[in-house]
Amino acid sequence: MKKTIKDFELSGKKVIIRCDFNVPIENGVIKDDSRIKASLKTIRYARKHNAKVILLSHLGRIKTEEDKKKNTLKPVAEKLSVLLRKKVKFIDQTRGEKLENAIAQMKDKDVILIENTRFEDLDGKKESNNDPSLGKYWAHLGDIFINDAFGTIHRCHASNLGIENNLPSGIGFLVENEIKKLSKLTNNPKKPYTIILGGSKVSDKIGVISNLITKADYLLIGGGMAFTFLKAAGFNIGSSLCEKEKIDFCKEMLDKYPNKLILPIDVITATEINENAKTQERFLGEIEEEEIGLDIGPKTVEVFKQYLDDCKTIFWNGPVGYFELKPFQNGTKQLLDIITQTKAYTVVGGGDTARAASDFNYQNKISHISTGGGASLAFLEGIKLPSLDAIDEK
Ligand code: AMP
Repeated sequence: MKKTIKDFELSGKKVIIRCDFNVPIENGVIKDDSRIKASLKTIRYARKHNAKVILLSHLGRIKTEEDKKKNTLKPVAEKLSVLLRKKVKFIDQTRGEKLENAIAQMKDKDVILIENTRFEDLDGKKESNNDPSLGKYWAHLGDIFINDAFGTIHRCHASNLGIENNLPSGIGFLVENEIKKLSKLTNNPKKPYTIILGGSKVSDKIGVISNLITKADYLLIGGGMAFTFLKAAGFNIGSSLCEKEKIDFCKEMLDKYPNKLILPIDVITATEINENAKTQERFLGEIEEEEIGLDIGPKTVEVFKQYLDDCKTIFWNGPVGYFELKPFQNGTKQLLDIITQTKAYTVVGGGDTARAASDFNYQNKISHISTGGGASLAFLEGIKLPSLDAIDEK
C-alpha cells in the first residue's frame, strides 16, 4: 500500500502538492473548474493540519514564449483563493529568488501556487523530460511531497517522479480515490464487463485494445477509430478518418476476436464538419466517397444497448461521435443515457468523455468519472506507472 497524506506529520512542514490544474482557460477565464474542485480535499487537509502548502501543476503545452501568456496559472490562484476562502499567493516563476523568499516567509496554513511547471519546457524540456536537477531543485523547496495529479501519473516528469526521487512522498485523496475506483475494473470486475472505446485514433489505443480485450467480455468500438476497423473489415468508409498503417492491426484483432469486438452497423455522415452540416443515416455499404462518418447511427445504438443492458461493469473512454457539434452528438448522448440506466458499475475516463458526460448532464449518474484519460487507460492496461511506483510504501 502506498503512503497517503494521512501517513505524514504535516504540522509546520512545507508540503509540496502536485495538483492537476490543467483546466480550459479562455481570455483569462476558467471554463471548467472541476479539476480545481477535485484537488480541494487534499489542500484543505494539509491546511487543517497546519502545513505550509506549496502547489505545483502544469497547464497546456509550452513550445514558444507566446504559449506562456495563455498558459499562466494566475487565474487558477484567483479561483483557488475563492474556493478555499484564503488568499493563495501566486508566484510568477518556476524557480528563483522571488519563489524562495516567498516560501521562506510562509506561515502555517499559507498556500502558494508556483507558475506552470511546463514553463521549464522552453529550455530543453526540463519538466517533461524529468531533468534530474529540476526535480532536485523543486524538492529542496519542501519537506514532504504529495502527488495528487492522477492525470499525469503515467508520465515521468520533474514535477512528479523528479521530486519523488528526492523527498519522502505520498499520494493525495484524489489519487487514492482514483486507484480505489479503477481497481474495481482490474481486480475481478463483475461480469459481464463491457468496454466502450471511441475518440479519434486507433494508434493512441492499440495497447489498450489488445490488452483490455482479454479482460472484458465485449469491446464496443465507436468514434473516428471505428472507421479504420470498418475499412479493415472490407467496408467503404468514404472520407472518414482512417489510419492506413493500422489496418493490419485492426484485421488481426477482428480475426482473433470476432465475437468480442463489436463495430457499428450504421453511421451518421456529412460532407462537412460544422454546426449546420446536413447529415445522412447510412448503413455500411451505403457511404458515398465524399461523406465523412461522424457519429454512430441509431441501429448501432440499439445493438450496443443489447451489450450494455445486463452488464455489471462498464468502462468508457472516448466519445463515439464528434460530440462537440450538435449534428453528431446523438450517439454519445444515447449511450450515456443507456449506461446510466443499467445497474452496472460505470466508469468514464478521459477529458472528452468526461466533458460529454457533464455537457449532457449525466455526471451525477455515473459511478466514477476519472480525472485522467491516458492515465486511466494506462492503469487499466496494468502497465508500469513510474510516478506512482516511486511513492513510498506504508
Ligand atoms: P481522442 O482524443 O482520441 O479520445 O479523441 C476525441 C475526439 O475524437 C473528440 O474531439 C471527438 O470529437 C473526436 N471524434 C469522435 N468521433 C469522431 C469521428 N467519427 N470523426 C472524427 N473525430 C471524431
